[in-house]
Amino acid sequence: MKHFPVFLAISGRRIVLSGGGEAALAKLRLLLKTEAHLTVFAPDPAPEIVDWASKGRLTLQRRAMEPGDALCAVACYAANEDQDEDLRVAAIAQADGALINIVDDLENSGFITPAIVDRDPVTVAIGTEGAAPVLARAIKADLEERLPVVLGPLARIGKSLRNMVSALPSGRARRDFWREFYFSVGPRAYEHGEDTTRNALKDLIGQYRDRAARPGHVAFVGAGPGDPELLTLKARRALDEADVVIHDRLVTPEILELARREALLIDAGKEGFGTSMKQEDINSLIVEHAQAGAQVVRLKSGDATVFGRLDEEMDACDAASVTFHIVPGITAASASVAALGQSFTRRGRNASVQFLTGHDMKGFADHDWAALAKPGSVAAIYMGKRAARFIQGRLIMHGADRSTPVSVVENASRPDQRILSTTLDDLPSALAEAGMSGPALTFYGLAHRDAAEAAIDLPQQIATPELA
Ligand code: SAH
Repeated sequence: MKHFPVFLAISGRRIVLSGGGEAALAKLRLLLKTEAHLTVFAPDPAPEIVDWASKGRLTLQRRAMEPGDALCAVACYAANEDQDEDLRVAAIAQADGALINIVDDLENSGFITPAIVDRDPVTVAIGTEGAAPVLARAIKADLEERLPVVLGPLARIGKSLRNMVSALPSGRARRDFWREFYFSVGPRAYEHGEDTTRNALKDLIGQYRDRAARPGHVAFVGAGPGDPELLTLKARRALDEADVVIHDRLVTPEILELARREALLIDAGKEGFGTSMKQEDINSLIVEHAQAGAQVVRLKSGDATVFGRLDEEMDACDAASVTFHIVPGITAASASVAALGQSFTRRGRNASVQFLTGHDMKGFADHDWAALAKPGSVAAIYMGKRAARFIQGRLIMHGADRSTPVSVVENASRPDQRILSTTLDDLPSALAEAGMSGPALTFYGLAHRDAAEAAIDLPQQIATPELA
């Protein structure tokens, strides 16, 4: 971050601007929304500036800026559309102790004016360090669509009744109250005017005062394979409301970023073999926080119901009479099969697919190898890297074709995703050579779409001339 965003206190303070043309007008339209005292220095001001001055909205000095003109000013804008004059003004402002912004000159500016979404008193500032103004404008347009125009008035009404709201217990109850006001009760009431909104807010305070505190609850949430965009909307909402987030090692930092700022984040990091925190300890942690009244999100990589020891955690909740629900997620197999450009099932190839684990509590996991060894079988093998040689041995022993395609997808959906295309015969050596250290999913019986198409295309290419 080369620029740190802050909100300047400008109410009743001076901002000076040098310039009288288009660039000055653009900045002034923005500055006139503020409560600052504006002084404009322009020997030849545009008619709009003269008009604003006559209405008392700003002070106009029909001359160039001189030393001392920016004394006591918080900020100074150089908008002369003339580089020499801008630099001269910047030097004056700096000597006078004001922050300086030269329009369209990032390098010589002490601060940048961000793109602003104005729902006063709610303001969103968007900055790209001057790198991508187009992007800033696109984000601004997107936010403007999403933030209802009533948000500003609602925030103002909410602020005026803050004292009454302070009667509500702080924490969860108060947050629920504000959420309901801003996103449900408030917008509806505002259609009937400010007074109705004020009354609705008072009614809502009454309801919340009488309401028993919301009990703790656990959401078992699938975090998906790593890409934050593969989170479900329900997962995002749960993270947004969480008091406590207990997560696995495989949950990426980008996803944890989305948790509510005040939420307590606990790393229950399970390692590939064994656990760094015992399962019983994780169970107790979940239950204890829920019993203390917290909204707990138990965040598991992929889908919470796939190889995640979910049942033990649900049983612990049941035993303690803690309520819970499950939010499904995108399992690593779904992300990996997408990376391969394949589908799990395909007419004429396989009508079923198995999810297997390479190892279980006792070590390498046993499966119905004879069934898997049959031609056309497809299996997604979780935690299969270290068990690769064992799996290969069992399958070959049960008659599997050594040339069966095997694909390994490491870090599926993440920027460092890698795909290894090999065969059952070469799997252990290919894995050793690739040296994969990230989470990886092994597909038995599935090649990357391109490789599979090539294999199908080949006999056809040979057959075509013969037919002709
Ligand atoms: N509940 C998870 C699986 C947990 S078991 C899910 O539904 O995906 C952990 C194993 O999942 C890892 O050893 C690896 O085999 C697989 N896995 C998890 N994330 C992965 C990713 N991004 N890419 C490839 N495999 C992944």
